Amino acid sequence: MSKKLTSRAADYSKWYNELVVKADLAENSAVRGCMVIKPYGYAIWEKMQAELDKMFKETGHQNAYFPLFVPKSLFEAEEKNAEGFAKECAIVTHYRLQNDPDKPGKLRVDPEAKLEEELIVRPTSEAIIWNTYRGWIQSYRDLPLLINQWANVVRWEMRTRLFLRTAEFLWQEGHTAHETKQEALDEAALMNNVYATFVEKFMAIPVIQGLKTESERFAGAEETFCIEALMQDGKALQAGTSHFLGQNFAKAFDVKFANREGKQDYVWATSWGVSTRLMGALIMTHSDDNGLVLPPSLAPNQVVIVPIYKSEEQLEAITNVVNGIMGDLRAKGITVKFDNRTTHRPGAKFAQHELQGVPLRIAIGARDLENGTVELARRDTLTKETIALSELTERVEGLMTEIQESLFNKALDFRNNHITEVDTFEDFKTVLETKTGFISAHWDGTIETEDKIKELTKATIRCIPLDSKDEEGVCVYSGKPSKRRVLFAKAY
Ligand code: AMP
Repeated sequence: MSKKLTSRAADYSKWYNELVVKADLAENSAVRGCMVIKPYGYAIWEKMQAELDKMFKETGHQNAYFPLFVPKSLFEAEEKNAEGFAKECAIVTHYRLQNDPDKPGKLRVDPEAKLEEELIVRPTSEAIIWNTYRGWIQSYRDLPLLINQWANVVRWEMRTRLFLRTAEFLWQEGHTAHETKQEALDEAALMNNVYATFVEKFMAIPVIQGLKTESERFAGAEETFCIEALMQDGKALQAGTSHFLGQNFAKAFDVKFANREGKQDYVWATSWGVSTRLMGALIMTHSDDNGLVLPPSLAPNQVVIVPIYKSEEQLEAITNVVNGIMGDLRAKGITVKFDNRTTHRPGAKFAQHELQGVPLRIAIGARDLENGTVELARRDTLTKETIALSELTERVEGLMTEIQESLFNKALDFRNNHITEVDTFEDFKTVLETKTGFISAHWDGTIETEDKIKELTKATIRCIPLDSKDEEGVCVYSGKPSKRRVLFAKAY
């Protein structure tokens, strides 16, 4: 298989699909819309999980696990949520197969084994979790309840793409219960901020925090906070969401508590989630025509060392030096791999590590041994330098921070250069066709206008930015008065 990727300019979407497969991140499976995440891709996901999990625990949350299946009657209990997800649900109707009497060697559903109540494969877990919380919450002393679950969910998506939109995906879902409305609102905002911090600091992807409009809100939520990122092709990606659920689920599942005045009241709720879609965001933000580019904090191997040798003796001498280098780097907390495979030539190793986005490559040959040097190559800038062994550890350590920051700043410049303020619908359409990216425009606040703009341009309101300033203006489409700008974009 050729390692060369289709360029982004030639066909962005093909570039993405090829990169995911060739960099060994994931592949399509025998199940429609479901992916196999390969070890290299999974190692990156595990790094995300570990950091997020730490951040959740630092903000007082605990992990728990709830069932994959939701009895249909429970699923239906919160009407808006049920309606919102109804079209994407997989349903279990039977619990047993039997030999098909008409087709030898084939199995069929055993008609006797029909479930009394159908089970929904969770598209999200509010229903099963709030049904459980009824037994856990009696008084204000039981609150707040701050729970997170790492799980898989199923949403029967019609148009799927590896990582970005799959029928089954991995995610975490936080589900919290609170005494007061304000506390729940604060929690939803806090967790959106945790996501923003994680995505910016750890994934080096700049995001805009905002609120969703009513029509883009999570089914059953009263307010949806989100983080929106911009991909290199100028399309936006919803990278995470955090919902204020009001008392909707508490009412649907009768979760009441005795408040501080001794009166019964319904509990206030939030839920929040990020998914394996973040892998797609990572790829589409930093990678180039040579393959994946990883920020050091997410790279399974931050440094790879490739020996260049002609004889066994040379390899042995190089190995001795490399063992010292690895010890020094590991002592600084840097993950390093010695690629001493004898089955591959250095050129093939270079190509593979470039494709897989290893942030730094060290090459060391016989001449380097004589000179006490190594060659250092940066994946993000594709630049090389020769450096004295004595300075290597310090330089690598410095480069880890430098690369992480430089990737973020590059993505931030791109994003900031792709937010265009427009005041007429003509300009709106022109910018969408030519420059793409986010369009900052006035909107009259109605669903009708939002729908009409979507129908005419395919752009949706990505969010009402949290930091948007009050500004008198007129709606870019209807000409009606508007008090602030919102961000539109075509989105994944
Ligand atoms: P939601 O529960 O709809 O607010 O989604 C929670 C998180 O999962 C958001 O970050 C979404 O962007 C992400 N997400 C939603 N649908 C999918 C999907 N089909 N594949 C991957 N991620 C998804």
